[in-house]
Amino acid sequence: MVQVIEWVNPGEDEIIWRYPNEVIKWGAQLVVHEYEVAVFMRDGKVYDVFGPGRHTLTTQNLPLLYKLVGGSNSPFKATVIFVSTKEFQGRYGGETQTRELAPIKYYGVYWFKVADPVQFLTEVVGGQSLYDTSDVTKFIRAYFNEGMMKHLSSYSIVDLFQNLDMVSTQVKVKLMEDFRRLGLELVDVKIEGVNTTDEWRQRLFWIMQTGNAQAVMQLDTAKQVAAELGKSGSASVGTGMVLIPQLMQPQAPAQPAQPNAGGGVPPAGYQNQPAQQQAQPQAQQQEICPYCGKPLPPGARFCPYCGHEIKRCPNGHIVPEGAKFCPVCGAKIE
Ligand SMILES: [Zn+2]
Ligand SMILES: [Zn+2]
Repeated sequence: MVQVIEWVNPGEDEIIWRYPNEVIKWGAQLVVHEYEVAVFMRDGKVYDVFGPGRHTLTTQNLPLLYKLVGGSNSPFKATVIFVSTKEFQGRYGGETQTRELAPIKYYGVYWFKVADPVQFLTEVVGGQSLYDTSDVTKFIRAYFNEGMMKHLSSYSIVDLFQNLDMVSTQVKVKLMEDFRRLGLELVDVKIEGVNTTDEWRQRLFWIMQTGNAQAVMQLDTAKQVAAELGKSGSASVGTGMVLIPQLMQPQAPAQPAQPNAGGGVPPAGYQNQPAQQQAQPQAQQQEICPYCGKPLPPGARFCPYCGHEIKRCPNGHIVPEGAKFCPVCGAKIE
């Protein structure tokens, strides 16, 4: 009976498949389907490679292995690995810290495919001894997440919340380089959500209100930030109201940030604000509550969500509790 080596019915998310029999006979039929490559390996090293088609294994089309097995015509040992060259989708999620050590959580989707099967098998499969498709998938996800963590942590919290589009683009380019090293092509990356703690959200509010990151960062807690900025009058502050992006409006302020260990799908209740919503017309300066981060109706005296009193200067700017002067315009508070 002729030996047939074929990947029958690959699963949706299977990247590799190892032919279970390691003893190969000359004359065996090798069937390689479209979007597949079959690779002969031994001891973690890549030998002969076959593209789509039906191949009869002869000493001619397995030159490297034939040489290795000493020119004998008896059955030889080799690991045959099929590699899918289709595009795969992966989900990621994790947490890291910004440049100022603000804790952030993030999640999204990425798409990738094997671009260089030989490099991929050398680096990932042979290199890590991962011959099971789910182990390979796990490895790729962990590798992606590690890169994402590393690259995101080089940004400031203001960049992450105010310039997420720019950050996404730059991080994507870096991750694409990382992936290329594994013989993989990172087709696209989408950051679907970034979130931080209530404390940092309030601090971010004041950085953006006043334009003075340094002053805000020097203070320990958001409450202290609000009080101090209010005391100092206009001396330490910038040019006034800045646009607060949609991302800063949390959906679940009562939900404390939970570590999203191990990546994967974010837990329920985890903030989900698509990145596209960040772009708001400059004219719409939506005020947000400095205590809970939810949008306020124009001129609100009380937050409809958390009930906190919203103090205002004579010019209508929101001022922190205990402030003697408006941090935006410097007006004296009665
Ligand atoms: Zn509120
Ligand atoms: Zn004011």
